[in-house]
Amino acid sequence: MAPSALGRVLVSADALKARVAELGRAIARDYAGASPVLVGVLQGAVPFLADLMRELPLDLTVDFLRASSYGSGTNSSGAVRLLSDLTVDIKGRPVLLVDDIVDTGLTLAVLKRTLEARGPLSVRTCVLLDKQGRRQTEIDVDYVGFTIPNVFVVGYGLDYDGLYRNLPYVATLDAT
Ligand code: 5GP
Repeated sequence: MAPSALGRVLVSADALKARVAELGRAIARDYAGASPVLVGVLQGAVPFLADLMRELPLDLTVDFLRASSYGSGTNSSGAVRLLSDLTVDIKGRPVLLVDDIVDTGLTLAVLKRTLEARGPLSVRTCVLLDKQGRRQTEIDVDYVGFTIPNVFVVGYGLDYDGLYRNLPYVATLDAT
Protein backbone atom coordinates (compact mmCIF):
# COMPACT_ATOMS: atom_id res chain seq x y z
CA MET A 1 0.00 0.00 0.00
CA ALA A 2 1.50 3.36 -0.98
CA PRO A 3 1.53 6.14 1.61
CA SER A 4 -0.13 9.24 0.30
CA ALA A 5 -1.99 11.25 2.97
CA LEU A 6 -0.34 13.56 5.48
CA GLY A 7 -0.08 11.95 8.90
CA ARG A 8 0.97 13.49 12.20
CA VAL A 9 3.49 16.25 12.78
CA LEU A 10 6.76 14.65 13.86
CA VAL A 11 8.88 17.81 14.23
CA SER A 12 7.08 21.15 14.59
CA ALA A 13 8.17 24.40 12.98
CA ASP A 14 9.15 25.76 16.42
CA ALA A 15 11.23 22.68 17.21
CA LEU A 16 12.97 22.95 13.82
CA LYS A 17 13.79 26.60 14.40
CA ALA A 18 15.21 25.98 17.88
CA ARG A 19 17.31 22.98 16.81
CA VAL A 20 18.67 24.66 13.67
CA ALA A 21 19.79 27.57 15.85
CA GLU A 22 21.54 25.13 18.21
CA LEU A 23 23.27 23.38 15.33
CA GLY A 24 24.30 26.77 14.00
CA ARG A 25 25.94 27.65 17.31
CA ALA A 26 27.85 24.35 17.41
CA ILE A 27 29.00 24.67 13.79
CA ALA A 28 29.95 28.33 14.20
CA ARG A 29 32.08 27.36 17.21
CA ASP A 30 33.76 24.48 15.39
CA TYR A 31 34.50 26.54 12.27
CA ALA A 32 35.46 29.78 14.06
CA GLY A 33 37.98 31.70 11.94
CA ALA A 34 37.54 29.31 8.99
CA SER A 35 35.93 29.89 5.62
CA PRO A 36 33.94 26.73 4.91
CA VAL A 37 32.05 25.66 1.81
CA LEU A 38 28.52 24.58 2.69
CA VAL A 39 27.46 21.96 0.17
CA GLY A 40 23.71 21.40 0.05
CA VAL A 41 22.23 18.32 -1.56
CA LEU A 42 19.39 19.31 -3.88
CA GLN A 43 16.51 19.44 -3.53
CA GLY A 44 15.75 18.23 -0.04
CA ALA A 45 18.38 20.21 1.87
CA VAL A 46 17.27 23.62 0.59
CA PRO A 47 15.05 24.83 3.49
CA PHE A 48 17.43 23.38 6.11
CA LEU A 49 20.50 24.88 4.47
CA ALA A 50 18.79 28.24 3.97
CA ASP A 51 17.90 28.43 7.68
CA LEU A 52 21.21 26.99 8.90
CA MET A 53 23.41 29.36 6.90
CA ARG A 54 21.69 32.34 8.46
CA GLU A 55 22.74 31.04 11.89
CA LEU A 56 26.40 31.02 10.86
CA PRO A 57 28.37 34.25 11.32
CA LEU A 58 31.24 32.91 9.17
CA ASP A 59 32.83 33.86 5.83
CA LEU A 60 31.26 30.94 4.03
CA THR A 61 30.50 29.88 0.47
CA VAL A 62 27.34 27.98 -0.47
CA ASP A 63 27.10 25.53 -3.33
CA PHE A 64 24.89 22.62 -4.32
CA LEU A 65 25.04 19.22 -5.87
CA ARG A 66 22.33 16.85 -6.93
CA ALA A 67 22.38 13.10 -6.45
CA SER A 68 20.05 10.52 -7.91
CA SER A 69 17.16 10.01 -5.52
CA TYR A 70 14.63 7.29 -4.78
CA GLY A 71 12.50 8.46 -7.70
CA SER A 72 8.84 8.50 -6.81
CA GLY A 73 8.95 5.54 -4.44
CA THR A 74 9.99 5.28 -0.82
CA ASN A 75 12.75 2.67 -0.95
CA SER A 76 16.44 3.09 -1.71
CA SER A 77 17.79 1.32 -4.77
CA GLY A 78 21.28 1.56 -3.28
CA ALA A 79 22.72 3.12 -6.44
CA VAL A 80 23.81 6.75 -6.04
CA ARG A 81 24.80 8.94 -8.98
CA LEU A 82 25.93 12.55 -9.13
CA LEU A 83 23.43 14.31 -11.40
CA SER A 84 24.77 17.83 -11.05
CA ASP A 85 28.04 19.05 -9.63
CA LEU A 86 29.52 21.92 -7.63
CA THR A 87 30.65 25.14 -9.29
CA VAL A 88 33.32 26.04 -6.70
CA ASP A 89 36.75 24.48 -6.18
CA ILE A 90 36.86 22.89 -2.73
CA LYS A 91 40.59 22.10 -2.79
CA GLY A 92 42.13 23.10 0.56
CA ARG A 93 38.77 24.29 1.93
CA PRO A 94 36.85 22.91 4.90
CA VAL A 95 33.60 21.45 3.53
CA LEU A 96 30.34 20.89 5.35
CA LEU A 97 28.03 18.55 3.44
CA VAL A 98 24.42 19.31 4.35
CA ASP A 99 21.53 16.93 3.62
CA ASP A 100 17.95 16.54 4.71
CA ILE A 101 18.00 12.97 6.02
CA VAL A 102 20.32 10.02 6.42
CA ASP A 103 18.62 6.66 6.08
CA THR A 104 20.77 3.77 4.83
CA GLY A 105 23.69 6.23 4.69
CA LEU A 106 24.57 5.22 1.13
CA THR A 107 23.90 8.63 -0.41
CA LEU A 108 25.88 10.57 2.16
CA ALA A 109 28.78 8.08 2.14
CA VAL A 110 29.13 8.25 -1.65
CA LEU A 111 28.87 12.04 -1.73
CA LYS A 112 31.40 12.40 1.09
CA ARG A 113 33.90 10.15 -0.70
CA THR A 114 33.35 12.05 -3.95
CA LEU A 115 34.14 15.36 -2.24
CA GLU A 116 37.10 13.94 -0.31
CA ALA A 117 38.70 12.88 -3.60
CA ARG A 118 38.98 16.57 -4.57
CA GLY A 119 41.54 17.49 -1.91
CA PRO A 120 39.50 19.56 0.55
CA LEU A 121 40.96 20.40 3.96
CA SER A 122 38.16 18.36 5.57
CA VAL A 123 34.66 17.07 4.88
CA ARG A 124 32.15 16.98 7.71
CA THR A 125 28.49 16.03 7.41
CA CYS A 126 25.34 17.62 8.76
CA VAL A 127 21.84 16.20 8.43
CA LEU A 128 18.55 17.40 9.80
CA LEU A 129 17.09 13.92 10.38
CA ASP A 130 18.75 10.61 11.16
CA LYS A 131 17.04 7.21 10.84
CA GLN A 132 19.80 5.54 12.83
CA GLY A 133 18.42 1.99 12.86
CA ARG A 134 18.50 1.80 9.07
CA ARG A 135 22.23 2.30 8.42
CA GLN A 136 23.80 -0.02 5.81
CA THR A 137 27.20 1.65 5.68
CA GLU A 138 29.81 3.03 8.07
CA ILE A 139 29.36 6.77 8.18
CA ASP A 140 29.69 9.03 11.18
CA VAL A 141 27.46 12.03 10.78
CA ASP A 142 29.06 15.01 12.52
CA TYR A 143 25.96 17.12 13.15
CA VAL A 144 22.43 15.68 13.52
CA GLY A 145 19.26 17.67 14.08
CA PHE A 146 16.88 14.92 15.20
CA THR A 147 17.04 11.15 15.41
CA ILE A 148 13.72 9.76 14.18
CA PRO A 149 12.12 6.31 13.98
CA ASN A 150 11.91 4.34 10.75
CA VAL A 151 8.90 6.11 9.27
CA PHE A 152 8.64 7.87 5.92
CA VAL A 153 8.55 11.61 6.48
CA VAL A 154 7.83 14.68 4.37
CA GLY A 155 8.06 18.44 4.75
CA TYR A 156 10.79 21.04 5.32
CA GLY A 157 12.45 19.94 2.07
CA LEU A 158 11.45 16.28 2.08
CA ASP A 159 9.04 15.14 -0.61
CA TYR A 160 6.76 12.34 -1.62
CA ASP A 161 6.45 12.24 -5.39
CA GLY A 162 7.62 15.86 -5.60
CA LEU A 163 5.07 17.16 -3.11
CA TYR A 164 5.17 18.46 0.48
CA ARG A 165 8.66 20.03 0.36
CA ASN A 166 7.17 23.41 1.26
CA LEU A 167 5.64 22.33 4.58
CA PRO A 168 7.22 24.32 7.44
CA TYR A 169 7.27 21.18 9.65
CA VAL A 170 8.16 17.49 9.28
CA ALA A 171 5.24 15.05 9.16
CA THR A 172 4.63 11.36 8.58
CA LEU A 173 2.57 10.00 5.70
CA ASP A 174 -0.38 7.70 6.31
CA ALA A 175 -1.17 4.74 4.08
CA THR A 176 -4.48 5.07 2.28
P1 5GP B 1 20.03 6.98 2.12
O1 5GP B 1 20.99 6.92 0.96
O2 5GP B 1 20.67 7.43 3.41
O3 5GP B 1 19.28 5.67 2.26
O4 5GP B 1 18.91 7.97 1.72
C1 5GP B 1 19.06 9.33 1.70
C2 5GP B 1 18.01 9.96 0.83
O5 5GP B 1 16.81 9.16 0.79
C3 5GP B 1 17.58 11.28 1.40
O6 5GP B 1 18.40 12.33 0.95
C4 5GP B 1 16.15 11.37 0.90
O7 5GP B 1 16.13 11.90 -0.41
C5 5GP B 1 15.65 9.95 0.84
N1 5GP B 1 14.89 9.56 2.03
C6 5GP B 1 15.24 8.68 2.99
N2 5GP B 1 14.29 8.58 3.94
C7 5GP B 1 13.31 9.42 3.55
C8 5GP B 1 12.03 9.79 4.14
O8 5GP B 1 11.59 9.33 5.21
N3 5GP B 1 11.31 10.72 3.45
C9 5GP B 1 11.74 11.26 2.28
N4 5GP B 1 10.94 12.15 1.70
N5 5GP B 1 12.92 10.95 1.71
C10 5GP B 1 13.69 10.04 2.35
